[in-house]
Amino acid sequence: MHPHKLSTLRTDAPPQGAEESAPTLVRRDLAPLSLRPAAPPVTSDACLACKSVYNYPLARWEDMPLSVLGLPRSTEEARNMRGFVLDVRQCASCGHVFHTDFHYDHIPYRNGSNLVYNDGAAWKAYQDELAEEWISSYGLSGKRIVEIGCGEGRFLQRMQRAGNHCIGFEPGSDAARAAAAGIECYPEYFQGSRLFDLRADAIICRHVLEHLADPLDFLEDISIACSAAGIAPLFLAEVPCIEKALEQNRINDFLYEHVSNFTCSSFCTLFERAGFRVLDLRTRFQEEVVTIAARPRLSHTQREVHARAQRFRLEVEEKIARTRRTLEAWRTAGMRVALWGATGKGAALMNMVGITPDLCDLVIDSDVRKVGGFVPGTGQLIQGPQALLDEPADRILICTNWRARDIEREIRQVHGMDAELFVVHDHGVVHLVDDLVL
Ligand SMILES: [Zn+2]
Repeated sequence: MHPHKLSTLRTDAPPQGAEESAPTLVRRDLAPLSLRPAAPPVTSDACLACKSVYNYPLARWEDMPLSVLGLPRSTEEARNMRGFVLDVRQCASCGHVFHTDFHYDHIPYRNGSNLVYNDGAAWKAYQDELAEEWISSYGLSGKRIVEIGCGEGRFLQRMQRAGNHCIGFEPGSDAARAAAAGIECYPEYFQGSRLFDLRADAIICRHVLEHLADPLDFLEDISIACSAAGIAPLFLAEVPCIEKALEQNRINDFLYEHVSNFTCSSFCTLFERAGFRVLDLRTRFQEEVVTIAARPRLSHTQREVHARAQRFRLEVEEKIARTRRTLEAWRTAGMRVALWGATGKGAALMNMVGITPDLCDLVIDSDVRKVGGFVPGTGQLIQGPQALLDEPADRILICTNWRARDIEREIRQVHGMDAELFVVHDHGVVHLVDDLVL
């Protein structure tokens, strides 16, 4: 009997002479079995499909070996295989079944054997039918088709025979076989940014998403890239469906390598959360797999955010440089310059622009409680307005725009100072004139 332990399910010790292979399963933690309503516990393990942190424990094994990748070639090697925690949970929000404590790096995808049997007659016939259906339903002929995780390229060959230009991505050792079979194959992990050049009409992704540590991030990367590139390729995906296994208490569907076990609901949720519009979702192959057809929702918001973020970053860089140049010019001209506003937004401005005491060491604040302290980070002594009454400034840079008019009134009406007033606005340092809109 294999020594792997179950902690929520255990086998009773078999009676003398009984077959060990026919244990009685006893629910220890859940007994007596009841369906009392109970709120799901909040956990630190977010659902891989929807990111909810509410989930129900289903089962947990402390010491499970890999079972798909890296077939051992001796008894000793098999018995000494490293064990992993398999902690299976179901998301309270979308129904996704996933396991925690998963580390993608533990699985030797690049150089381990991945002996998935693809030659069964029914399975081959199913794939022929699926390829034909997708080709006819979505007019896939004369198109550019990318397959993520194309393996040996057999499914992509079906697409190629329909007159499509096919490109495969396969980081594992099957890449060479796909290339030998005439597929344009890249031996690498796929990233959304590849779509800028490839401009695919359709993306196929079969039996990949259940292996990914973060399938939501993976798909979101693709949908955001599509928005940026202004393309909306058809996305056709397939994963094992866990629903029948759940109905039948079929625990051996839980594999360490399959960190995700999709229900129809969670598969749909995953794509919608990642920014896709779902066109079709259905179970197939005696309900053991679920397929989806979806397209990225081209979001104007995403494109505006992208453009605005790029513009903001460039303009802020230029604004900081320009502000420094202005202060350096004032210092070179021998002007007495004061900064007004020492903490909060004032301190943030001084630190962001790099206004250290050698660039300007005179810092004023209206709040007497701050006087005598020092500016966080840059270290100038904070002085009260009296410092400028004793020795007037030529120019005052007001460091907080939303209070600038109040500070202006204080400078002019309370203290009667006539220094020129400035703020950092839009693209750099500007005069605080009456009609400046702050
Ligand atoms: Zn979920």
